[in-house]
Amino acid sequence: MTSVPQNILVIGLGESGQAAALLAAAGGACVTAADSRPASAFSGTLDNLRAAGVAVETGAEVIPSGGFDLAVVSPGLSPRADLYRSLSESGIPVIGELEFGWSHIGAPTVAITGTNGKTTTTELITHMLSEAGQRTVAAGNIGLPASRVALGGAVPERLVLEVSSFQLETTTVFDPEISVLLNITPDHLDRHGSTAEYARIKARILSTRRTDAVAVVQSEALAYLRSLKVEIPRRLVTFSSGSRKADLYFEDGLVMGGSGDWKGPLLSLQQTRLRGGHNAENIMAAMAVGREFGLSLEQMVRSVKTYRPAEHRIEPAGEINGVIFVNDSKATNLDAMMRAIEAMSSMIAEEPNILLIAGGSGKGLEFHEAGPLLSRRVKAAFLIGESRESMKAAWSLFTSCNLAGDLEEAVMLAVEMAEIGDVVLLSPACASFDQFTGYAHRGDCFKAIVADLMNTTYGAPLLSRSTTDCGPRKTASKEHLA
Ligand code: ADP
Repeated sequence: MTSVPQNILVIGLGESGQAAALLAAAGGACVTAADSRPASAFSGTLDNLRAAGVAVETGAEVIPSGGFDLAVVSPGLSPRADLYRSLSESGIPVIGELEFGWSHIGAPTVAITGTNGKTTTTELITHMLSEAGQRTVAAGNIGLPASRVALGGAVPERLVLEVSSFQLETTTVFDPEISVLLNITPDHLDRHGSTAEYARIKARILSTRRTDAVAVVQSEALAYLRSLKVEIPRRLVTFSSGSRKADLYFEDGLVMGGSGDWKGPLLSLQQTRLRGGHNAENIMAAMAVGREFGLSLEQMVRSVKTYRPAEHRIEPAGEINGVIFVNDSKATNLDAMMRAIEAMSSMIAEEPNILLIAGGSGKGLEFHEAGPLLSRRVKAAFLIGESRESMKAAWSLFTSCNLAGDLEEAVMLAVEMAEIGDVVLLSPACASFDQFTGYAHRGDCFKAIVADLMNTTYGAPLLSRSTTDCGPRKTASKEHLA
């Protein structure tokens, strides 16, 4: 463990903040931890901090006084929050939790960012390295705070860090051996203001003092960053599902190598459980990283074939009378939704008719760009949540748009229109917090509604909803699915 400053302030007491406070205390620092939420929001979980000698301040509107040498901030804390503002005015040096935790781990690190595909690529890389016998830990935005890994003590052989734009906002010394930038499309504009500003923050993952640092970057994102005059590390591997000029590219369902010992076909996407050009990009990025960490092509291909994608990402949810239901609740922005629609044509043999369920809280995003794709692939859209009116305004020239009160009504309306060979796709292009506790809750509700429909249709008793509270349920009849 490297030495830490003596007097540390931790701002934000979610999982990352708590882990950072404990890590700082374990290193012998005098630690104060503050959060603007009231004590009642934490239901006793802060006692472990007090037991470790951390001074806890809840309901804080300004930072506590105390002559701090360093402030560690959680990624959930917006730079526009009052606490952050008072921190900026104080002149105390600031470090993000991810960077603080990482600087205490000391393992060769690959860091992955991008608008979409971070979790899938983080998991793919972790799966490949672990299967090859390298002791690997996945941490960061994927759920396990880097500070928690550092607290564990055992240094992994490889650290795979999923990094969000929120976490990159505060990095200064973060300098992984390998950086992956998957893509940059508009998202989180409510926090970052403009796509260019968001892109500059994402690009911070590439800033390095290492001469041997490797950057694995999607060709399209690279072109955009170059137009913004962002400096790119010299050792560069490019990948793209849309350009054959990349070092790794995608053609006729095959991942292709474009140079050196990896020239020609490397892997067929059909041999994996992943679908769509976007997932081919995730695989290419993961393979580029695996190669840097010494894996053979054969080892990697074997691992990609056994990788099972996480829930809520183009996840088959059932089939009723020839109608397929797909849960892509994790699509919380327009690009992820468009990629899911494109991927549908490779899921079943014929060109499908998609019945799209979209909408939720919009994060300041525009929806117009999807219009032409919708007119080619989407038979009708069923729109829910806060953004449903603006989606309708953007899309009704291109496809039939139907407003629904909630997810269940949207599924029922889609089912009424569905014919054999159609796909009912939940891919909302929005965050979920207007109607759900998160994307997983939204996806679980969708799957429960589909399971109920399947049981109704095939005559079995309805499933219990005890594990997934989705509000009052309407029943559907078989005729809806004819
Ligand atoms: P993240 O962690 O960045 O949110 P996930 O792997 O969890 O990424 O996937 C989130 C959503 O984005 C899913 O709907 C998924 O189908 C879609 N997606 C995954 N990879 C990509 C990619 N490379 N480009 C665009 N969309 C993607």
